[in-house]
Amino acid sequence: AKRQGRNTYQWYTRDLNHKVSERVAMRNALQRAIDEQQFELYYQPQVDGATGAIIGFEALIRWRHPQRGYISPIDFIGLAEDTGQIIPISHWVLNTACRDSVHLNGLGLGDFLMAVNVSPMQFHRPHFLDSVFEALEASQLPPRLLELELTEGVLMDSSESAIDSLHELRRRGIHIAIDDFGTGFSSLSYLKQLPIDKIKIDRSFVREVISDHRDAAIVQGILSMAGPLQLRVVAEGVETQAQFAYLKKHLCDAFQGYHFARPMPLAELEGFLREYQAT
Ligand code: C2E
Ligand code: CA
Ligand code: CA
Ligand code: CA
Repeated sequence: AKRQGRNTYQWYTRDLNHKVSERVAMRNALQRAIDEQQFELYYQPQVDGATGAIIGFEALIRWRHPQRGYISPIDFIGLAEDTGQIIPISHWVLNTACRDSVHLNGLGLGDFLMAVNVSPMQFHRPHFLDSVFEALEASQLPPRLLELELTEGVLMDSSESAIDSLHELRRRGIHIAIDDFGTGFSSLSYLKQLPIDKIKIDRSFVREVISDHRDAAIVQGILSMAGPLQLRVVAEGVETQAQFAYLKKHLCDAFQGYHFARPMPLAELEGFLREYQAT
């Protein structure tokens, strides 16, 4: 038994060492990505339920690794948070999204909202507000066309100064959305207290909204609460006509998902927009 124990221990440390060196390698690769600008932004349209028109986009980062190809944000955003590399990455995301948004709004196809994901570390940094205002200033994007997506957890843990930041953003006309709504196990009372414009129903509830009555109950609960609180609701991960029809029937305001469009690079989005708005 003792021997087996030691083997287990050895396996464990070997595994751990492997994980540690993997993380170090990944951190170095990320640094190179930052220095050599290996990131791209893809944009996924959001569609208004009532009119069918495209009302805006969510900016989603992609890492194009010279050898390994595209790497999903799921595989590097967490590490970038831990190492602090999220700060230069976020700076690039915000500035690029604002600049691309000005370009898109200049096409004469409409005024579109640009939604940008904000990571917890980024939000809690002392100069977060300045970085947002600077990106708006540099790009000349009107603040009312920028939306910041924050997760429930970030909003729940927020100190008074963080809440002041939200009010200041709002005062300038910037929209605030709660991302992945419903996954944070949090108290709902904050919805009343915080300056929020929109909630995004997490994809995990949308996925089986037709087939699982518990998901349907949660979605209906969110939608019936949002109206009186004057919160707009976007459903994420809408993949089928049936999901869309169900959510629309229950008065969801806007939709995002593969059923409408996948995230795409700016050049492709331009063509998509022209075609979509023409029909
Ligand atoms: P998220 O903010 O919840 O973004 C939505 C994710 O759902 C995106 O994954 C999008 O591509 C995917 N998606 C959209 N429609 C559908 C659909 O119909 N079906 C399915 N199965 N998926 C759909 P993506 O781009 O891989 O991003 C994953 C996560 O990485 C994001 O989740 C967000 O938390 C994070 N992320 C992405 N870009 C950024 C960024 O610029 N900054 C930060 N801090 N986080 C980012
Ligand atoms: Ca998001
Ligand atoms: Ca989300
Ligand atoms: Ca999510």
